[in-house]
Amino acid sequence: MTNNYKFIRADLAQISAYTPHSIEEIAHSLDHLDTNESPYDLPTTIKGKLAWVYQEEIETNRYPDGSHIVLKSAIAEYVKQSAKLNGEISHHNISVGNGSDELIRSILIATCLGGEGSILVANPTFSMYAILAKTLGIPVIEIQRSDTDFSLDLVAATEAIAQTNHPPVRVVFIVHPNSPTGNCLTTAELDWLRNLSQDILVVIDEAYFEFSQSSLVGELVRRSNWLILRTFSKAFRLAAHRVGYAIADPAIVAALEKVRLPYNLPSFSYIAALLALKHRDLLLDIIGDTLQEREKLWQILSQRSDLKIWQSQANFLYLQLNNASSAQNPEQLAKITQDLKNQGTLIRHTGGGLRITIGTPVENARTIERMQKILDRS
Ligand SMILES: *Cc1c(COP(=O)(O)O)cnc(C)c1O
Repeated sequence: MTNNYKFIRADLAQISAYTPHSIEEIAHSLDHLDTNESPYDLPTTIKGKLAWVYQEEIETNRYPDGSHIVLKSAIAEYVKQSAKLNGEISHHNISVGNGSDELIRSILIATCLGGEGSILVANPTFSMYAILAKTLGIPVIEIQRSDTDFSLDLVAATEAIAQTNHPPVRVVFIVHPNSPTGNCLTTAELDWLRNLSQDILVVIDEAYFEFSQSSLVGELVRRSNWLILRTFSKAFRLAAHRVGYAIADPAIVAALEKVRLPYNLPSFSYIAALLALKHRDLLLDIIGDTLQEREKLWQILSQRSDLKIWQSQANFLYLQLNNASSAQNPEQLAKITQDLKNQGTLIRHTGGGLRITIGTPVENARTIERMQKILDRS
């Protein structure tokens, strides 16, 4: 939509809004394998507890607890337990956001806004870093990952940081394991990150930690310029509630707290995250099944000679077409995505390939069947 309003920033015309699901896509009859959510709703016992707390304890006329202290402490406990750390992490190391998306924006505001810096991303990767940076007028320096194993081109990355034709790179955003490609950081990449200047914030987004069980939290204590992002939107089944958190040095956390909105987390979401942590054994118990399903899907799809498919450490698979370079065939990938949608399965066409979330066993069986049919026809 073009507008003639002088008071709207002209550069926003170049940016498209993130497109959430349309009304027809929200319909329950579709398999939602496009946004990497858990396919499992909260168990009714926990939903019941949440409803009880809402009924009995939340006063809707009151603002939420804006200090987040109870939730931060519970998160710190979980982080320590899952990384087998003693003592080093407390609520001072945690900041909570309305989804980790909000934290990404806070990081950008606290580091790069006002011409102070640029960010570095390695494509294909999570799109929100670049989208949010652009809405704030922050330059995005983009490098490409290898098209065979999606590792970073460390020479290109070093050169991009050294260039002086943009404000200094203040933040490097890395997903571990990466979305949409599912690969974890390699030893060489980790060493590169460890050797970056202390003047650069390294953001390691561990949105899929509960699936990969690979975390860099243990290194945070030694690396004060690192920040780890996590979310309740994936393995913890709380995408509807919008809760994410950052783990970092208290001075970085303090900066994020300054720029966030005072009551960013609604009381209901706050309680949902607390309950999810309390019942984490129950909620995370199903992850083994998801990993088994991922393996099954991978086994079947990898037998097709017309597909290239990669191993994944997260709750999704990434694939491309084996004919020519699929990066040059966006129409073909778009057509497969559309054909699958017509048959009732939503997947994501992104970063030159297709990303398929692991769903319930029934959904996955349908994915296989529909995918085979579409590929056999084309
Ligand atoms: C899904 C996802 C998130 C989660 O974002 P929320 O705002 O917490 O829902 C963050 N980072 C990556 C890489 C993701 O894939």
